[in-house]
Amino acid sequence: MNTMNTQQHAEELLSNHGLKKTPIRIAMLKFFMEHQFALSASYIESNMKAMSDRVTIYRALSSFEEKGILHKAPDDGYGVKYALCSEHCPDNAHEDHHVHFICQECSNTYCLEDVHIPMVKLPEDYAIESFTYTINGVCKACKR
Ligand SMILES: [Zn+2]
Ligand SMILES: [Zn+2]
Ligand SMILES: [Zn+2]
Repeated sequence: MNTMNTQQHAEELLSNHGLKKTPIRIAMLKFFMEHQFALSASYIESNMKAMSDRVTIYRALSSFEEKGILHKAPDDGYGVKYALCSEHCPDNAHEDHHVHFICQECSNTYCLEDVHIPMVKLPEDYAIESFTYTINGVCKACKR
């Protein structure tokens, strides 16, 4: 994605989800769009600290999560990571039921949205509330 597109896309995401278009929110969303993998809160903080303070950054992350713009990706032992939601995520109800792939070489977490997840059949007395599907391995960048 080029700079022009990410700027527009970030502004659109904010207005579609009823959030004010502040420079820090736009910068954070653009930062996500520039990465193919999930980003940890501390990584975002260290890259955005010239622009804003910690409280504002963490507050923006939680409103993005609340509004269905970002979802939490399973943590690899180094803290919570966030990734951009697919377009189907409505406010307050995430539908990010996709495979999360954690690379054991680079520790990046990737959202694999196109991989089909087989449905598990549970015994009758069990009701699914939510699930996560995490696979560990070596990503394509590290495999080269
Ligand atoms: Zn979501
Ligand atoms: Zn990797
Ligand atoms: Zn994901």
